[in-house]
Amino acid sequence: MKLSVILPIYNENATLASLFARLVPVLEQVVSDWEIIAIDDGSQDASMKTLQALRRQLPQLRVIKFSRNFGKEAALAAGLQAAMGARVLIMDSDLQHPPELILEMMEVQCQGADVVYGVRGSRQTESWVRRLCGPLFYRVFSRAAEVPIPINGSDFRLLSRRCVDALNALPERVRFMKGLYAWVGYRQKAVYYDVEARRSGSSKWSLLRLFGYAWSGIVSFSVIPLRVWSLIGSVIAGLSVLYAVWITLETLLFGRDLPGYATLAVAIFFLGGLQLISIGVLGEYIARIFAETKQRPLFVIEERHGFEDPD
Ligand code: UDP
Ligand code: MG
Repeated sequence: MKLSVILPIYNENATLASLFARLVPVLEQVVSDWEIIAIDDGSQDASMKTLQALRRQLPQLRVIKFSRNFGKEAALAAGLQAAMGARVLIMDSDLQHPPELILEMMEVQCQGADVVYGVRGSRQTESWVRRLCGPLFYRVFSRAAEVPIPINGSDFRLLSRRCVDALNALPERVRFMKGLYAWVGYRQKAVYYDVEARRSGSSKWSLLRLFGYAWSGIVSFSVIPLRVWSLIGSVIAGLSVLYAVWITLETLLFGRDLPGYATLAVAIFFLGGLQLISIGVLGEYIARIFAETKQRPLFVIEERHGFEDPD
């Protein structure tokens, strides 16, 4: 059974040599038939050159180069489409996912699992904001979305062929992979590992980008942000009716009160704010519909190396 390893690469030149030095012996040990599919996601450094050099020693390495940076999710989509193996492993190429864990993942899969996903044991290497917001996101997502995703489940995964086929069949352009893996279903099992500190460079995910990613994930998998406005609207409308009754009674019983300037101003600003927020949320969903209806491909490939057909 062939094993395909998918490596999304964006400016990882500094770690590529040590990654391959650790990954290849593990692969040699666990399977006889394997391939590595490296996707250069528009790196500006010498990653592509290094991959070309590595290809000379490793015929099992196949390389796809994007025409620009399309993001990790697009790189994974390209890798999943190109993978030929009966099992497919996805891992980061910054050595934060220890290649040695592949041994355990293969074992767990053989015991009867379609998907074996790595769960990070500690977030020691991360800032406190990330340590706090990371787990919180998984909880919120699992509550809001139609499919729960495992807490701290990572992109470090071993998938069976039928899972890969199911993922490849999903036509959506906005690809929140963590949600999609869960959506596909099948028997999923966890293995635990400790995230190593990044060898070099810094994470491509700024805190802002991470928040955007989390929000986009929730919007892709849940309609609760849309529904909540009906609820808030009903509550405010209900309270307004009560308040109207109260004002009427008050005027009838005690005569006219002082002009309620402050009440009016606060009510106008508050409701105006709420309406803007709810329009913003609507906009998020419309943006998603917009992205899907354009039907653009997920990525543009500039070069392919190691594939039978030259394009
Ligand atoms: N990556 C990519 N395209 C991007 C950003 C990242 O292919 O636009 C790759 C990157 O090279 C790495 C993996 O995705 O192999 C995870 O990226 P990173 O380490 O920056 O994310 P983190 O570990 O902080 O979640
Ligand atoms: Mg990383």
